[in-house]
Amino acid sequence: MTRALLPVAADVSARLAGTPLVSMLDVDGTLAPIAPRPDDAAVPPETKRLLAALATHPDVTIAFVSGRAAADVERLAGVRGAWIVGNHGFEILRPDGTPLTEASLGTARDAIAAALREITDAVASMPGVLIEDKHWTVSVHFRLASPTVAPALREAVRRAADRHGLRVMEGKKVLEIRPDQDVNKGTAALQLTREVFAGRQGSVLYVGDDATDEDAFTSLRAAMPMAVTARVTHDEAARTAAEFALDDTNAVAEFLGWLAAERSIPTLGRP
Ligand SMILES: [Mg+2]
Repeated sequence: MTRALLPVAADVSARLAGTPLVSMLDVDGTLAPIAPRPDDAAVPPETKRLLAALATHPDVTIAFVSGRAAADVERLAGVRGAWIVGNHGFEILRPDGTPLTEASLGTARDAIAAALREITDAVASMPGVLIEDKHWTVSVHFRLASPTVAPALREAVRRAADRHGLRVMEGKKVLEIRPDQDVNKGTAALQLTREVFAGRQGSVLYVGDDATDEDAFTSLRAAMPMAVTARVTHDEAARTAAEFALDDTNAVAEFLGWLAAERSIPTLGRP
């Protein structure tokens, strides 16, 4: 059972009052409403304005966390001063664009490329399946495909991944093929937070809507019990490791507005 994050209760407000405040936000389904095609997704202008205002505050760190490639996240959500975690944690970029860690992925790209070729062949007969090559990972989207193709698609993707020693994760109408390494949104969230904290005790926020965000909820709550974790869902009985829930992307924007007001950050269009 999760608690509603809005309206923000006093105990939660206190947990978010530390400095620095590291705010990690998933993008698709959290900031940007889910679009039928990933290329059509967009962060609403009001949300982007709030993010830009928050990211300029010296005590607030904004980080976008996504399964998309970092460059794609930058295009979709990027605001000056924000960190970007792309490819489910395989890429972590500081606000100036430099990587937090050098990727130790070795020959992982060769395996990804080989699996990509096989999957491309396998789905040629499955209309509506979209393949996205993100270099270190591959997304196979089936939101636009007939539901009847899902079993055969899963089977084809799993077979290709197994053959090349890769892992498969399933999200909302998407299969993700990734290197067989213990890297995920959870490991990235901890790494980024520790880097920004630099030994200080600040506040931590993580908001996400998908299965891949569960790693972050679990890791943060285990390592930093005061972290505020929220899953974007209408379902109060949703199985989630997050402590709180936000209804939808509008509720996320409303919460970001609250956060800006708490820090007395001026945002255009708001009193
Ligand atoms: Mg998402």
